[in-house]
Amino acid sequence: ERKLMANTIDLHTHSTASDGLYSPTELLQHAHEADLRMLALTDHDSTDGLAEATEAAARLAIDLIPGIELNTDTDDGEMHVLGYFLEYERPAFQKTLKVLRDARARRGERIVELLNEQGVNIQWEHVREIAQGAVGRPHIAQALIDAGYVQSVPEAFDKYLRSDGPAYVARRKLSPLDAIRLILSANGLPVIAHPLTVPGLQKLQAWLPELVEAGLVGLETYYGPYTEEQVEQLHDLAEEYKLIPTGGSDFHGPGIHPTPLGGRFVPFEAVERLKSEASKRMGTNPPEFVLPPADKE
Ligand code: AMP
Ligand code: ZN
Ligand code: FE
Ligand code: FE
Repeated sequence: ERKLMANTIDLHTHSTASDGLYSPTELLQHAHEADLRMLALTDHDSTDGLAEATEAAARLAIDLIPGIELNTDTDDGEMHVLGYFLEYERPAFQKTLKVLRDARARRGERIVELLNEQGVNIQWEHVREIAQGAVGRPHIAQALIDAGYVQSVPEAFDKYLRSDGPAYVARRKLSPLDAIRLILSANGLPVIAHPLTVPGLQKLQAWLPELVEAGLVGLETYYGPYTEEQVEQLHDLAEEYKLIPTGGSDFHGPGIHPTPLGGRFVPFEAVERLKSEASKRMGTNPPEFVLPPADKE
């Protein structure tokens, strides 16, 4: 019967403020066409799309939840942390995000240099034209397509950009615990994104006690392509740790991820619980966060 209910909520989406294809306004327009009532914009390392998204959402009577996605690294792989209901205008928070984005730009430039050394001639200036906000490997993939080296983004990752590929450069290291603390410093609610994709169930279970202790409030459970069985597994885990099971499509634009915008059912209860948790913190003094110095580059 769940399938007969219309999807009205999507809590994981990207715009041109990071590696999404739609501007915030276009994204909200598509959300409106999909009959969504609630949308969280969760760009990588950036809240720069939120002002425009909030304005467009108000015109379309959509409830816009200010969010972010922070890609973090552990010794055994990536973990992505979503943040919801951020007081994102806090200056210290914005300053830290800018440090992370500047590091992304330098890293992108180094990837282009590595490609150039291997005779693959794409220009950093071109990547900068494609990336209007936080630079990511998908933008370099697009430059590789434009220059005719590959046909698709997945092919670009496969041939050049994947983590054991010939043109890989690591991001500035941010730990999952620091991502949680950064989100808490803006009174936001930290949630582990697509836990079965990265870091995977085993590693998640090993990390959870520490993450919960640091202030984790949710676990992305109703995620794009996850099966009913996987959803149930994550739901049980969320219950065990008293975490809020959230969900969304991880929409980046048509044809980038398998799930369309609003393409995954997310129960309203998830939003209710997030809102109730957020309202307890709103306007209170958040814990301060200081970004540890970068590893030697
Ligand atoms: P970055 O943040 O620059 O490390 O790039 C990571 C982003 O690239 C992820 O958030 C995905 O959206 C995308 N991505 C990662 N691996 C692949 C892949 N194999 N094919 C297509 N997109 C990918
Ligand atoms: Zn992305
Ligand atoms: Fe992610
Ligand atoms: Fe995402």
